[in-house]
Amino acid sequence: LLSDLQSGSIPRYARVNYLKTTPQNVVQHFQDEGYTFSPKSAFKQPGSFHKAVKAIQTMQLLQDPHIDGLLVFPQNTDFHKHPLYIDGSIILQDKASCVPAYVLSPPNGSHVIDCCAAPGNKTSHLAAIMANTGKIFSFDLDKKRLETMRSLTSKAGVTSAELTHHDFLTVDPKDPKFARVQYMLVDPSCSGSGIYSRLDPLTSENMEADDDRLANLASFQTKILTHAMSFPAVKKVVYSTCSVHQQENEDVVAAVLRDHRDSFTLDTVLPDWPRRGLDIFAGAEKCARMHADDLTNGFFVALFSKIGAVDIDLD
Ligand code: SAM
Repeated sequence: LLSDLQSGSIPRYARVNYLKTTPQNVVQHFQDEGYTFSPKSAFKQPGSFHKAVKAIQTMQLLQDPHIDGLLVFPQNTDFHKHPLYIDGSIILQDKASCVPAYVLSPPNGSHVIDCCAAPGNKTSHLAAIMANTGKIFSFDLDKKRLETMRSLTSKAGVTSAELTHHDFLTVDPKDPKFARVQYMLVDPSCSGSGIYSRLDPLTSENMEADDDRLANLASFQTKILTHAMSFPAVKKVVYSTCSVHQQENEDVVAAVLRDHRDSFTLDTVLPDWPRRGLDIFAGAEKCARMHADDLTNGFFVALFSKIGAVDIDLD
């Protein structure tokens, strides 16, 4: 079990930043450097992508079959001096952490809130999906992390995000500024138990989280999610954690659904993804889980949809 949980099995993922370039240009650049490229059409057979990643060699790159614009490299590839990394054309981001913005996919012109946004990879992904159109309101409570986010998003060429140092729980949903916000990304602080590189490979101790801590986190996560759902024009809310614990994942979703049973339902996240939410409430299979065996960090994603949401004309 422990060897499966070590970050050693997770390759290096690079997301092509559509604000700077295209996947074609990036792949061409690497091919010009001598890389061989396998497109996702090579991974139609079940298990073939997994096998290819396990066997990936230096100077090889693969197209990820699940997330648009995501490329897969050998784990020890060092991009820090690579021109495409330096100019923000590629962003180093684990596959699991690309799922929330990808499944939310707000159309161009949308207004979006990223409730707990720093250091900003998901805001940057949203801005890329929306081609810097519309508006992203990004909040974070931690000033230092927000400063990191300022440089990260500026390097990525993001111009559509407004970064605010603020407790999201005290942001007023009735503020006319947010009247057109239909999409919410909720990625709150969590135990981080899915980030395998943070685990001690010699013991499984860090997997045993203490119940009080998890209960506190779950209560905070429930509050943030509930607040996100209270914005008047909301249509879709994506909830994610990098935790493997049911208390922070399915339990939070089940509680929030129970409280909003007449106003929200769940949409299916990544329908072709095999690892689903733990079967603890009706519909939990609509959520997706990620695990080292899927060649990603541990992660959880749920997508809520407002019943009867009214469409807004986009800019
Ligand atoms: N979404 C980010 C990304 O992809 O780069 C990662 C977010 S991290 C998991 C959670 C963030 O929530 C932290 O930066 C933390 O400072 C912030 N946070 C915690 N409580 C908050 C609150 N009440 N309002 C806004 N942000 C909060």
